[in-house]
Amino acid sequence: MKTKQKIDTVARDLSDEVHEANFIGAKMKSERRYAALGRDYADPDKLRETAGKIKQHTLEHLDQYLEQAEASFTRNGAKVHFAFDETAARQKVLDIMNEKGCKSMVKSKSMLTEEIHLLDFLEKSGKEVVETDLGEFILQIDGDHPSHIVTPIVHKNRRGIAKSFEREGLGEYNDDPETITRRARAHLRQKYLDADVGLTGANFVSAESGRIAIVTNEGNARFCMAANKVHIAMVGIEKIVPTDRDLALFLNLIGRSGTGQQLTVYNQFIGGPKRPEQPHGPEEMHIIFVDNRRTEVLASDCREILRCIRCGACLNVCPIYRQSGGHAYRSVYPGPVGAVLSPLLAGNRFPQLADLPKASSLCGACNEVCPVNIPIPDLLLRLRDKAKREGASEAMKGTPKLGMWATLCSQPSMWKTALTMGHTMNYIPTQLVPHPSAQSWQGTRKLPKFQGGDFRKWFKNRKKK
Ligand code: SF4
Repeated sequence: MKTKQKIDTVARDLSDEVHEANFIGAKMKSERRYAALGRDYADPDKLRETAGKIKQHTLEHLDQYLEQAEASFTRNGAKVHFAFDETAARQKVLDIMNEKGCKSMVKSKSMLTEEIHLLDFLEKSGKEVVETDLGEFILQIDGDHPSHIVTPIVHKNRRGIAKSFEREGLGEYNDDPETITRRARAHLRQKYLDADVGLTGANFVSAESGRIAIVTNEGNARFCMAANKVHIAMVGIEKIVPTDRDLALFLNLIGRSGTGQQLTVYNQFIGGPKRPEQPHGPEEMHIIFVDNRRTEVLASDCREILRCIRCGACLNVCPIYRQSGGHAYRSVYPGPVGAVLSPLLAGNRFPQLADLPKASSLCGACNEVCPVNIPIPDLLLRLRDKAKREGASEAMKGTPKLGMWATLCSQPSMWKTALTMGHTMNYIPTQLVPHPSAQSWQGTRKLPKFQGGDFRKWFKNRKKK
């Protein structure tokens, strides 16, 4: 990721413009969400509970549902592959392209492909890859990364985008959003027609029928499939739901929770390559189920996070995300879901991201809005505990040892002395504060002037009167 800064220093260094864009973007979506859910359902919590139970049940029987999905897809004429890790997943895509002599790919938005850095890999392997989601396309030409799961360029404004288009030779400077969109459309139209392969993700996979469900607001996913001979769908193994009927519930929830829409504009259900009687569509469909440490997460005490349907609602309500934006999370998945998922998916690199679970006020807003009822604050606490048990030093920085604090609080005489002496804190420079964790804490924050002691004096005098 672009920034290596710790999350609590990022908000401070963000430009006002980006900060405002993050804040307003997230807030508006969360307000729309509340309106959409409240208007359409008398008791949205019941739906969230049901959706959570369905996902949890699927996760607990994932091996069976994966087998069923494989059989259903094969029956439909699709080729099913399993990739254990990111290397295998990337290589599988390259192998399919090479087997078919394909040189270029159009790609629709997929967090999983971000997770495994597919685009870089294919480009280094000599393939041309074009992102077709407008936001992702802008990130691609800017060499940037998404800062939100649903709206990846929430941190950008139209002036910056207009400059990027001008730089890339996509017309003279013009920051009218309609003009920008029209130019992108004209540019991408030819790419759709010229590409050899279309790659999509999948929001859900029905084990029963062997269908993937893809939702977009731009319709680009279906263009990625329409003109190509080969369609590759890359899917995390946790995306499975048992039946087609379940899709109705999840499609209702994902639109409302993500963007406040009753239903996302385009909903595709793809169950294999084109049949002989169909005039258009890919002749081959490959579905790649990717594990990439998901089974490790499933075996951990944070397995509930795999219920996530990537709606982005928890980001929008999170006070930390609103202040710091998505890049601060230094990983593919930002916000509360990222603070749980990213360290878990990091494997041996867990200590490097073990500070993310601390990026939360534990206010519980993320849990309240999550359409699959993930107890995110509980999971954050479990991960903080894991970081402590494993001695992840980065995560411990800035956290004063509570043992010392407990001793101080349980000895009245020591406590009284500390309060009396506390005033001296106002005059001690940070580097002389006698504990490294306190120094680190003060490196990014300012302590208020110490006021302790006055209340005791006042209370004592008051009793005498
Ligand atoms: S954790 Fe819940 S609210 Fe957050 S993105 Fe996932 S499903 Fe949506």
